Amino acid sequence: MRAINEIIIHCTATKAGRELTIDELRAWHKQKGFKDVGYHYVVMPDGEIKNGRPITMCGAHCKGHNANSIGLAYVGGLDANGKPADTRTQQQRDALKVAVQVLRDVFGDVPVHGHNEYANKACPCFDVHKEFGKQPKSNQL
Ligand SMILES: [Zn+2]
Repeated sequence: MRAINEIIIHCTATKAGRELTIDELRAWHKQKGFKDVGYHYVVMPDGEIKNGRPITMCGAHCKGHNANSIGLAYVGGLDANGKPADTRTQQQRDALKVAVQVLRDVFGDVPVHGHNEYANKACPCFDVHKEFGKQPKSNQL
């Protein structure tokens, strides 16, 4: 297994209410030249957590931070006009919390970051630090 020292949260940058399957996401990401879905886990609007690429594989979700992170995305992130917005359903909010807790149980008390901390993007369209509280420091590998 890779060393994991952070969890990075994303949105799929799809409009609120738009259904998105893992197969569709995989096809988009393969078109971009990725081997598989860029993220490791994807949270559906109903709160179901789907597997993206295997967790043993480096992700393709955050330039410069893929080697030792886990990519977790929720479906949504754009409002009806295509503007960045926190479109998470309550089920997605709850599922993200559960996913982070489970991953921390497995990989230790790793920090949670938003993609927008590392790239000039709105993704994931909410304040990750406000949501997940004070963060432990990343282990510098
Ligand atoms: Zn992102």
